Amino acid sequence: MIEDTIAAIATPMGEGGIAVIRVSGDEAVAISDRVYRGKTKLTDMESHTVRYGFIHNPKTGERVEEVLVTIMRAPKTFTREDVVEISCHGGFVSVKKVLDLLLEQGARIAEPGEFTKRAFLNGRIDLSQAEAVIDLIRAKSDRAFKVALKQSEGSLSRQIKVLRHQLVELMAHIEVNIDYPEHDVEEMTNAFIKDKCTNALAEIDRLLVTAQQGKILREGITTAIVGRPNVGKSSLMNTLAQEEKAIVTEIAGTTRDVIEEYVHVNGIPLKLLDTAGIRETTDLVEQIGVERSRNALSEADLILFVVNGAEPLQQGEHELIEQLRERQVIVIVNKLDLPQEIELNYLVEVFGDERVVRMSLLENQGITDLEKAIASIFFSGQLESGDLTYVSNVRHIHLLKQAHSALSEAYEAAESFVPIDMIQIDIRNAWEQLGEIIGDSVSDSLIDQIFSQFCLGK
Ligand code: GDP
Repeated sequence: MIEDTIAAIATPMGEGGIAVIRVSGDEAVAISDRVYRGKTKLTDMESHTVRYGFIHNPKTGERVEEVLVTIMRAPKTFTREDVVEISCHGGFVSVKKVLDLLLEQGARIAEPGEFTKRAFLNGRIDLSQAEAVIDLIRAKSDRAFKVALKQSEGSLSRQIKVLRHQLVELMAHIEVNIDYPEHDVEEMTNAFIKDKCTNALAEIDRLLVTAQQGKILREGITTAIVGRPNVGKSSLMNTLAQEEKAIVTEIAGTTRDVIEEYVHVNGIPLKLLDTAGIRETTDLVEQIGVERSRNALSEADLILFVVNGAEPLQQGEHELIEQLRERQVIVIVNKLDLPQEIELNYLVEVFGDERVVRMSLLENQGITDLEKAIASIFFSGQLESGDLTYVSNVRHIHLLKQAHSALSEAYEAAESFVPIDMIQIDIRNAWEQLGEIIGDSVSDSLIDQIFSQFCLGK
């Protein structure tokens, strides 16, 4: 059982308006009280109330910070333990000082994700919900955020529980049949097993179909914008970036910092590849031999191929078309506002009608068509489906696939009249694998691994 009290800075490092230190555990209120001075003692405060006061060093009497302290007593807290949140001024030094005092008074510094881990261990959330908390923190688009939020509320867990319940019923049915064989006709049981397996398999299939979409929402569609100079690549980038504030993440550690830029098209995040290159007017068509552009092209899930509608296709573009034939390409025929010279029919013939989008980036025409084209490629057009349960976690996908193959085996076995106690084993396996998704039967090391992905203080 968890006994110690943990503390950590819950807000990002660096300067900010305020910073919050979170303390959780049996001793949370008592430890905080030793460093707090205000009108009342924290131990006398009612749950879910806030007090103004000061943090001081009990040894020296030195006043360290002016704070607001929130007291939340178990069990109605994130961790289901007593939780104290101390809001200080945002500077790094003062926050660190307050944290050090709490540690001196007996709190232990929390590991990354330990607050969420406690919420899980104390039964407030299940594992798939805890993992959704990671997704919430990392969500790069509004839609990804909504999906994660839905999962953190337990939508996937509910569907998994329904599935498991069906399997338990099936196992019970088989059990009865094993114990009292005279009550049933063997063939009927086999038909029953096959029927139940078919239903469960269909449900797992449905969840797995959402997996690809979930991945896209989480990680974005890796997208390369290609085209010769002056066709409108930068204009396209700017138009996309205006749709929703672009998020730029810098990944250090390479020779030159690689910039990943996210833009959104109707809520679908696109992760643009090598956009710095485009900004520097690197011409991907001319440099097609250059490894970097090759890599960008081969890595991309989606290629936005921009051409100038006011001119006929050029030699380099014809070569590129040959290379792109088998890929996920959307051709953007730009400059629709000018007299058109391009071989539109040829492009439609090669890439298909829905994949050729006519736009004028200058006059903001055609954005909706581009959105539709992207949605039709990656979401079969059904982006606005109300059901936001996407299986997006690799661990969940793996377990769903395992459960799927166990149930397929059960089905096959029933078909060939294998003894039902053997079939029972497959069904039980499927039931256990599904259980691992919600954390019913997972090992400590897996739990540690999952929670270590969190940031400090969460
Ligand atoms: P890039 O070299 O491919 O990145 O192309 P840019 O986005 O820099 O655009 C090249 C030139 O074409 C700029 O002068 C743009 O203003 C112009 N341009 C971009 N889109 C359009 C359009 O739809 N119509 C017209 N007439 N000009 C455009």
